[in-house]
Amino acid sequence: MISSGTRPCGLYIHLPFCAGRCPYCDFFAQPLAPGLARVLLPALLRHLEMAAPLAGGRALGHVYLGGGTPSLLPAGIIARLIQAARQHLGLAPACEISLEANPGTLSAGKLQALKAAGVNRLSLGAQSFDPALLKLLGRRHTPQDTRRAVAQARAVGFANLSLDLIYGLPGQTLAMARGDILAALELRPDHLSLYELTLAPETPFGRAYAKGRPPLPSEDQVLAMEDAALELLEAAGLARYEVSNFARPGHECRHNQDTWRGGDYLALGPGAHGHLAGRRWAWLADVKAYVEAVRAGREPLEFSEDLTPRQRAWELIMLGLRTVEGVDLARVGALLDRDPRRMWAGPLAQLSAQGWARLEGDLLMPTPLGLRLADAAAGLFL
Ligand code: SF4
Repeated sequence: MISSGTRPCGLYIHLPFCAGRCPYCDFFAQPLAPGLARVLLPALLRHLEMAAPLAGGRALGHVYLGGGTPSLLPAGIIARLIQAARQHLGLAPACEISLEANPGTLSAGKLQALKAAGVNRLSLGAQSFDPALLKLLGRRHTPQDTRRAVAQARAVGFANLSLDLIYGLPGQTLAMARGDILAALELRPDHLSLYELTLAPETPFGRAYAKGRPPLPSEDQVLAMEDAALELLEAAGLARYEVSNFARPGHECRHNQDTWRGGDYLALGPGAHGHLAGRRWAWLADVKAYVEAVRAGREPLEFSEDLTPRQRAWELIMLGLRTVEGVDLARVGALLDRDPRRMWAGPLAQLSAQGWARLEGDLLMPTPLGLRLADAAAGLFL
């Protein structure tokens, strides 16, 4: 149903289990009831076999195990999934295999087993190093858990380690936000994702807090936190490569980079989203319904849509304007069979006049100001 290309293909595996619900989170995840993972595993393996032909013979350039909290699951399940990906799709040389982990779920033994299974990149949800803020966020780990997990991961040989932090938290001051960045940098991560707290309306946080009203920091305070973070991270050798992502050279997350470049990735697991050559889809966000569909040999499809060339072109622009490498207008033009410089002469002139982006050859690259205003910049092309 979908044509393949020569670009690398990825695989995203959604493992929707958590120890409990964090009050700010609106991801699809549910408590890990006893035995549930053992019920899901055979369905995932069967589904992987069913979906593998979609890659058109391309080996995987990256695998991303996200959630939820994939590290809650026994390492044996992760090993089985990676082995099945190797068997049915093949792993390209130096395939990046990332696993999202909660620091409180790891031990030296588990890390060793994950590494032996083939995981070569760990993304630790540190979120903050302030015990009171972690408690407020409903996290089930302490700053000490994060420090211990990083030390243990390094000791067993993980050479690619990322930390997630959230800023703009209730009651957080600029000094506290700086403290979080400095505490993270002490652990010498290879990659850092830094997200401003978002208030999804249907979450407890969304109901409890109104944006910009105390105890949430004001917009100016949030901007000051972002500026301070940028300065500290860049000084420590972590270069910004996307609005919320920073890395030492060569440690940019391949799954995310490929997504932002409009790349192809298969999806596996309840609630997972995939994209292949302009078709995107999601699998049922319901563990039971997903398992039943796969058992019956049916695609557990929640929705799918075929993007028009214009929609694909706009997505390339919207995603590219969030990245430092920018938008390749030659690719956009090839999709549209028209010159995007003519088609969007007005928006391009506006971007340049406002100092949001500059054009170098075929590359449209956002400035630091443009990265801050990425949504507004993309909106000019609608
Ligand atoms: S651990 Fe992550 S996925 Fe699970 S509820 Fe908390 S924020 Fe959401």
